[in-house]
Amino acid sequence: MNEVQQWHTAKRVERTVNALKENGFEAVYASTRTDALQEVLNRVPTDALVGVGGSITVRELGLIDALNQRGHQVAEHWSSDLSPDERMAIRRQQLTSDVFLTSSNAITESGHLVNVDGAGNRVAAMIFGPKKVIVVAGVNKIVKNLEAALDRVNNVAAPMNAKRLNRKTPCAVTGQCTDCRSPERICNVTTIINRKPGRTDVTVLLVGEELGY
Ligand code: SF4
Repeated sequence: MNEVQQWHTAKRVERTVNALKENGFEAVYASTRTDALQEVLNRVPTDALVGVGGSITVRELGLIDALNQRGHQVAEHWSSDLSPDERMAIRRQQLTSDVFLTSSNAITESGHLVNVDGAGNRVAAMIFGPKKVIVVAGVNKIVKNLEAALDRVNNVAAPMNAKRLNRKTPCAVTGQCTDCRSPERICNVTTIINRKPGRTDVTVLLVGEELGY
């Protein structure tokens, strides 16, 4: 980014961080993914069981390796050598983890978190269950308002994730949503978190780089 682009992005981040704080979240900005990694680790107690949602961003930060190196028990269901039953058990374990790490498909400048999910385990854990939730998102996830957020989750995040997962959905071919009825549909649940959920401690960490989908 050149100087002017950096200035413009900084203003968007500032508006978003302030709005998130007004909505009850702890909101933090890290300019680089390296700083973001440290900000996350600083918030994870040394003995915490850490649940990890389906998130490219979390993996791009190197968080899973860093947590394993610190000796955490990490509940992570993406490993290819897990059976379907083992994956399901890990998804349930994430719901009662000490810390749950995820990203958000979109974050509005008004401080709302907007997400789509196929099974719903990731969005459920963002709302209630884990003692603490840490949401990490690159600046590419920031959008102006709820209308733009819903457009992003349906026409950017969902198609890219459908493509990544080789799902047999129209969006994995065309790159845009047609509100399909595919059995492999990945956006069965849409959530809008307007304010910090009452029983969950949520930190939103915005990163000054493009991360995830
Ligand atoms: S409804 Fe279907 S086409 Fe639309 S984003 Fe979801 S999976 Fe893709």
